[in-house]
Amino acid sequence: MRHRSWAEPWKIKVVEPIRMTTRAERERHIREAGFNTFLIKSEDVYIDLLTDSGTSAMSDRQWAGMMMGDEAYAGSRNYYNLERSVREIYGYEELIPTHQGRGAEHLLSKLLIKPGDHVPGNMYFTTTRLHQELAGGTFHDVIIDEAHDPASEHPFKGNVDLKKLDALVQQVGADKVPYICVAVTVNLAGGQPVSLANLRAVAEYCRPRGIKVMLDATRAVENSWFIQQREPEMRDRTVAEILRMTCDLTDGATMSGKKDSLVNIGGWLGLRDSAIAAKAQNLVVVYEGLHTYGGLAGRDLEAMAIGIRESVEEEYIRSRIGQVYYLGERLQEAGVPIVTPIGGHAVFLDAAAMLPHIPRDQFPAQALAAALYVESGVRAMERGAVSAGRDPVTGENRYPKLELVRLTIPRRVYTQAHMDVVTESVISLFEDRKLVHGLRFAYEPEYLRFFQARFEPVGAPVVLESGAHAGASVDRHFVLNS
Ligand SMILES: *Cc1c(COP(=O)(O)O)cnc(C)c1O
Repeated sequence: MRHRSWAEPWKIKVVEPIRMTTRAERERHIREAGFNTFLIKSEDVYIDLLTDSGTSAMSDRQWAGMMMGDEAYAGSRNYYNLERSVREIYGYEELIPTHQGRGAEHLLSKLLIKPGDHVPGNMYFTTTRLHQELAGGTFHDVIIDEAHDPASEHPFKGNVDLKKLDALVQQVGADKVPYICVAVTVNLAGGQPVSLANLRAVAEYCRPRGIKVMLDATRAVENSWFIQQREPEMRDRTVAEILRMTCDLTDGATMSGKKDSLVNIGGWLGLRDSAIAAKAQNLVVVYEGLHTYGGLAGRDLEAMAIGIRESVEEEYIRSRIGQVYYLGERLQEAGVPIVTPIGGHAVFLDAAAMLPHIPRDQFPAQALAAALYVESGVRAMERGAVSAGRDPVTGENRYPKLELVRLTIPRRVYTQAHMDVVTESVISLFEDRKLVHGLRFAYEPEYLRFFQARFEPVGAPVVLESGAHAGASVDRHFVLNS
């Protein structure tokens, strides 16, 4: 049979113009942004791969749903539509809407964690861990060792290491472990999936010990696709079936609808235990809004109710992850060091491997993200020591094994041509990588510092000698002395 390419299962109805800037403009923008891509104005970005969070393109059906927003303060019909979607697709009976994922993490942490408790998880996530810590808990990473190795080809690098989990439970006692938070896929490991077999083993370990299993369901749809592709027994199951089997192993979930669910804002806490749900419904009024809107407009609830159903369509999910693989494979072919296997939502550049001349305390991934913007107008973000923050006890910088730059692909937004431009930009930067400088903090905020920190370059600019590019000017360095 002749080879047939597949294409996106949608066509474009509305377009949003984007503008290419000059290198001189971008050098000014990055300096004004304190070398932090989060502080660059969106209009100064050409291709925006900062995040897949809230950046999806909605469908015509979702926009039509927005017009059907029932903006009643209480009992909006859109809440009941969302409840139906969550019950049918995820299987959680009790639904507490929140403005986004961290709102749900806040409620869950406050409800289940007592000061002195310990909360294991398969690699930390920034907001998840912070809410656990603010509630008085201590986070423990129980992910398998392979997750910390950017070159390991393990098919399920997000898996929980049952031995690490058991060692923690033995050490602190099961009564000090209210729940384990299992993230699928694991964002900070590079969008790496968790197998259904592993999640089942976690549930079997936890249930008799009274430890709840809470899912970070943010990218559980994408995880389900990986299970279908890589777990042989699951090959004939639909993504929707696998998602349901995943959730069925858990006691509840926190969800950022801004990822899998194809909306610009929204999240929820899903639970089975009606007594805990009643407490969550009471607490949500304090922090988010009444339990039938949770900080969202009725139209936002409706867009999420529809987006949830679209997110589990097989053709959609194949094209979504297929596009991420397209970019990742082009970079691999060019010899650019990336985290493998390629993840579900992003391609992660291995900044430590690319920039061995920049020491860890000069934040190579932060510097690489800034340099990529100057090179091409492509905006990415750091996932390394800056994101990891400081140890709350010692105040020291945390240095995770992975020092990465994340090229995150928004859903249904960019075309293959955009991915080709990104590929060429990264390759060009890779060839000039010796010109990238380290950075130090000029301003370091207290919480989640990666969002708002400002940096300044360390050392004098390096001058290009080799002429790696024809016509490169002598001041073609990426980080300027200001
Ligand atoms: C984005 C994200 C969250 C937090 O969700 P927000 O909607 O950004 O508040 C939690 N966990 C993971 C894995 C995420 O990627």
